[in-house]
Amino acid sequence: MSRVYNFSAGPAVLPEEVLREAADEMLDYKGCGMSVMEMSHRSKVFDDIIKEAEADIRTLMNIPDNYKVLFLQGGASQQFAAIPMNLMKNKKAGYIITGQWAKKAYQEAKIYGEAVELASSADETFSYIPDCSDLPITDDMDYVYICENNTIYGTKFKTLPNTKGKDLVADVSSCFLSEPVDVSKYAIIYGGVQKNVGPAGMVIVIIREDLIRDDVLPGTPTMLKYKTQADNDSLYNTPPCYDIYICGKVFKWLLKNGGLSAMKELNEKKAKILYDYLDSSKLFKGTVRKEDRSLMNVPFVTGNEELDAKFVKEATAAGFVNLKGHRTVGGMRASIYNAMPIEGVEKLVEFMKKFEEENA
Ligand code: PMP
Repeated sequence: MSRVYNFSAGPAVLPEEVLREAADEMLDYKGCGMSVMEMSHRSKVFDDIIKEAEADIRTLMNIPDNYKVLFLQGGASQQFAAIPMNLMKNKKAGYIITGQWAKKAYQEAKIYGEAVELASSADETFSYIPDCSDLPITDDMDYVYICENNTIYGTKFKTLPNTKGKDLVADVSSCFLSEPVDVSKYAIIYGGVQKNVGPAGMVIVIIREDLIRDDVLPGTPTMLKYKTQADNDSLYNTPPCYDIYICGKVFKWLLKNGGLSAMKELNEKKAKILYDYLDSSKLFKGTVRKEDRSLMNVPFVTGNEELDAKFVKEATAAGFVNLKGHRTVGGMRASIYNAMPIEGVEKLVEFMKKFEEENA
């Protein structure tokens, strides 16, 4: 068996230890004679799995007691609708457009009310985070929305926007559990798990309890009401059981490895190796304004499309896979999530140096 270095933006690399453990338990989970895939979501065994997963993510993120943790389906994209449906009391919200995912959330919100563009970095292909210190936020806005880490463009909010007292809703899909966060600064913090946490098929929504209510927009489907999910502890219907189980294992792996502050240190170290090389290279260059660079998604280009394609091809052959940039940006992108070992980044940089020499 040989595993590659997988730089995919998502679904993405998972900790090998977690995969091995899951493989060991595949046929017989802890002596119950069946796989977690095969058991009832109402069984005692599964109840322990989901409760432990929730307790562990609460510990990891230091989630205050007045927040609910929901394990839901529909991916992050389903939340683009669920958020306005549940939160738009005044039918108005502000959106900061820092990339394609923020834009999709903004467009979806427009179906349900007035979504106002507060700031945007579209003018420079989303290569920076706009100044969010004094946004045109009005009193009647129900919330302010951001995509905290922009997977495609490789930017990250290093400071949260000044929301002028309004609730902040953040999509953290591609920076989930990559560093400590102060949950109390958010009304909702949510992310699809398939980048930094687990297999595709689940979104985790951490929501302040006062936002869980009955008076949602008329026509909100039962399944999309946070109240339905919260009242039933994410077990209103059959949840993504296997996903919850694997995410639970990843939470334990994170706790064992020092939690989110240790993860942040390691992620900074990994990103620095790559960015330092990009800054010194005569062939490759990063595409993002330095102060807004993501620790998770690192886009770069040679400036020559043919050379980009040659690099991706040769890198793939050498075992560094999924380095092709998003189709809307081109070039390359290395996603270096929690589970990417530091050796993966060191070896990638070695490979890039060799490629630079050969193509000078
Ligand atoms: N938000 C961000 C930041 C993403 O990167 C993605 C997926 N690439 C999404 C939302 C959409 O996620 P999903 O496919 O789970 O709906």
